[in-house]
Amino acid sequence: MPVFRVALDLPLHRLFDYVAPPTASRDDIGRRVRVPFGRGEKIGVVVDVADSGDWPLEQLKSAGDVLRDLPPLPADFFALCSFASTYYQAPFGEVVLQALPAGLKRCEPPTRRAVRPPVPGQPPVLPELTGEQAVAVAAVEPAAGFAAHLLHGVTGSGKTEVYLRLVERALAAGRQALLLVPEINLTPQLEERVRARFPQRTVVALHSELAEAARERNWRAAFAGDADIVLGTRLAIFTPLPRLGLIVIDEEHDASFKQQDGMRYSARDVAVVRARQAGVPVLLGSATPSLETWANAHGGRYGLLTLQERANRQATLPQIRILDTRRLPLQEGVSKVLVEGIRQRLERGEQSLVFLNRRGYAPVLACPSCGWVSRCQRCAANLVLHLADRRLRCHHCGFEHRVPKACPTCGNQDIHPYGRGTQRVEEWLQGEFPEARILRVDRDSVKSRKQWETMLERIHGGEAEILVGTQMLAKGHDFPKLTLVGVLGADSALYSADWRAPERLFAQLMQVAGRAGRAELKGEVVIQTQYPEHPLFASLVAHDYAGFAAGQLKEREQAGFPPYAFQAVLRAEAPQMADAIAFLKAAAALPLVAAHEQVMLYDPVPMRMARLASLERGQLLAESMSRPALQAFLPLWREAIEGIKAPAKLRWHLEVDPLEF
Ligand code: ADP
Ligand code: ZN
Ligand code: ZN
Repeated sequence: MPVFRVALDLPLHRLFDYVAPPTASRDDIGRRVRVPFGRGEKIGVVVDVADSGDWPLEQLKSAGDVLRDLPPLPADFFALCSFASTYYQAPFGEVVLQALPAGLKRCEPPTRRAVRPPVPGQPPVLPELTGEQAVAVAAVEPAAGFAAHLLHGVTGSGKTEVYLRLVERALAAGRQALLLVPEINLTPQLEERVRARFPQRTVVALHSELAEAARERNWRAAFAGDADIVLGTRLAIFTPLPRLGLIVIDEEHDASFKQQDGMRYSARDVAVVRARQAGVPVLLGSATPSLETWANAHGGRYGLLTLQERANRQATLPQIRILDTRRLPLQEGVSKVLVEGIRQRLERGEQSLVFLNRRGYAPVLACPSCGWVSRCQRCAANLVLHLADRRLRCHHCGFEHRVPKACPTCGNQDIHPYGRGTQRVEEWLQGEFPEARILRVDRDSVKSRKQWETMLERIHGGEAEILVGTQMLAKGHDFPKLTLVGVLGADSALYSADWRAPERLFAQLMQVAGRAGRAELKGEVVIQTQYPEHPLFASLVAHDYAGFAAGQLKEREQAGFPPYAFQAVLRAEAPQMADAIAFLKAAAALPLVAAHEQVMLYDPVPMRMARLASLERGQLLAESMSRPALQAFLPLWREAIEGIKAPAKLRWHLEVDPLEF
């Protein structure tokens, strides 16, 4: 009697064996199957049909029905899952099942609905490609097999147009295109732009905000080969596509391609592996590529395609000015120069954007007489003051509290907000410009995709002269009337202990600066700082990403940081820090560690955010100059760690290529 070897969504690194039904055959490999588990039932995926399993047949339970509503998941899907499972030390069953939409993992019969058919519309008029765009389009040849390319193009250089031309070519060759974007919510226009460009084609979206039924429907269309274009966020990278011909990753540097919980993978890196396995080209696009990708492009592993000019001939790159705030009087953190700039834009009927990446009214409320500060009881963080709804709120764990009328410790009624967030800047600007219409754009004022679309319409419709916003506003939008961007409060990232902070700051400032002067009107960017001599600003003013990247890479090479070293981090969280650290120490002292000389372990330390939601968190960094050496070490280490006796409430995980510590 044959045995089904089944992948189940469980945190265990093994398959589960069941006695297969009499009709079983190898054709069942890749199909979903109903299996008894504990006192209930689960849906798993048949990975193999074998003559015997790990256990004697009489100890095995029998599998239930094999579900035949879908064709079997193909071998290339399993190959990709297998790579991700090995590389990221994630249980294979978890990887396989996280790739399926929820509806396919439930025991009830699935819903069936058709995807939105293409609406035959006018074929769009295509702009003539710029010389640089034409070179880029010609360089990526869908028929030529695997190749990875970086498309490095300044903001507004027409990267999207390059993507669309390549998609067009892939479709013309009868293939499907997979286009990944960081956060689909922030770019609702992109979906429309893609649909408008390919009116005869089926375009489906795959992201976590879709209703469950819609996601399942879109996934089925992609898997069946009915969808020509799949537009998705990181989770879409595992979608099986029978005719895959091209993968595009837009804003490839964006941290949201990295999943930070559950299975911690980088969709960008998985995309490159997938393209290689499938023998298709992959294009990574950005104005500020990640340093990993930049190093790959310069080391010859990826092709490098460059767009240096803005696509719209009249649009030039904005002029960037660095304002030394040590010598300037500020009011609510805003300099006279910026105020004057805003006034001029108001007179000319243009728009200004004040960028401050901190929402709320003030980052902390404090008592000057006794030193009380509004701290979160559950995290190593302050509670942020939100005056709009009179709450103190933790931005890490969601804890909230009403604003006290007096100091909770000494009763002093004169407690103050310190520092400033978007609400406070908005309030002050409104006082300064009583006639102006100001729109604040952050996660408090925009909570859903619908609200975001409405907000974008209002901005485009000229309903605001001044925008105050966080990084939500920095990404990929064209506001033709926006000619002034002022940046406040960027300094904290300059001398951060996090060595990736400058890379993120540069990308963010470049992106927000790129909002100014997208059309005929010339743009100006004013950055207020106390450290005007910081080299990051010199590169920024010169729009010199390459110079900035070269400097950063040199520092990283000297310090032995990625991309010149390879890292994995073991994290442990427990009610007591001592337990977390003791566990990490035990992991560092395992006998196999000494045998792997090419892997170095640092001392266990508390994480930068040492306490989150009432759990204390420690970490242990493992590093090697050799990726194969690290990869050989990790599975053995993980298995040995699983054998460590830990307190019941301790949780741990391994993350490969961590971005944050
Ligand atoms: P990016 O994605 O690089 O920021 P976009 O693709 O959004 O840039 O292009 C910026 C603007 O330039 C858009 O309004 C787009 O329609 C326009 N554009 C792109 N390519 C061309 C071209 N070849 N000729 C004229 N306009 C173009
Ligand atoms: Zn007090
Ligand atoms: Zn908290």
